[in-house]
Amino acid sequence: MSIYIVADMEGISGVSGETVVRVGHSEWAERGRHYMASDVNAAIEGALAAGAKRIWVRDGHAGGDNLVRERVHPAAHLISGAGAVSSHLPGLDDGFDAVFLIGFHARMGTHKAQMDHTITTAAIDEVRLNGTAVGEIGIYAAYAGTFGVPVALVTGDAAATKESEVLLGDVGTVAVQEAYGRFSSRLLSFEDAHARIREGAAVATRSRRLPWRLEIPITVAVDFLRSADADMAECVPLSRRSGPRTVEYSADAPDVAFRALQALVHLGGIAAHRWATTIYGSGSKIV
Ligand SMILES: [Zn+2]
Repeated sequence: MSIYIVADMEGISGVSGETVVRVGHSEWAERGRHYMASDVNAAIEGALAAGAKRIWVRDGHAGGDNLVRERVHPAAHLISGAGAVSSHLPGLDDGFDAVFLIGFHARMGTHKAQMDHTITTAAIDEVRLNGTAVGEIGIYAAYAGTFGVPVALVTGDAAATKESEVLLGDVGTVAVQEAYGRFSSRLLSFEDAHARIREGAAVATRSRRLPWRLEIPITVAVDFLRSADADMAECVPLSRRSGPRTVEYSADAPDVAFRALQALVHLGGIAAHRWATTIYGSGSKIV
């Protein structure tokens, strides 16, 4: 069995509040990065116990350089750093049996969800794939599905695991915390959370889940926060401005559709960054 793990940070055990996920902050350096490695290692241990032979881990938060490398389980290969997009599962192909999403959060606009957002709160209100509203869980699941690879396990806060179950149905989940507000959660102990992740990963490794396959053509739609963000995004050739803040793109080839999604998001993000730095001054950052 070959397992591809993507690790995000907002829904990791012990993570609550923004400073612990903010790259460069002392809370991130001394706590968040270690918490993330511990959850990832629990998933790796569970997968190995259930017979996984190949495990890759994609550091999927911010610039992709969060996991404390010397702490990552030696059986796994770590994919770190930014820029290798391929819809942020670089190297994924049909040789993998399952994707695990570890430490995930709910999509933008979810109530009682730890740091709910979709890619960036600076620019994006909603993303839809063939009309279905998705967050990052859905985007990863749909992209993996184009290779016939299912998301077999999602861990994170209870809002993220619920979102996964509603969207994918056939998926294993482990909730390690329950949010009361965007920056406040009831946290499981690390011992309890890691035991549940280990067990969830073992069950998921032995499971045969169904991939989420989108109908062709694939239409991606992005509702931005501001018309200025959409003004930039519509520079993508063959995109459609379907609303004041909405840009869409349709393609028969899944690879083209997902590259277009990334292009829309990044161009809209550039406009949002300009706006933010104009209003709040350079060095401002919205997560
Ligand atoms: Zn993140």
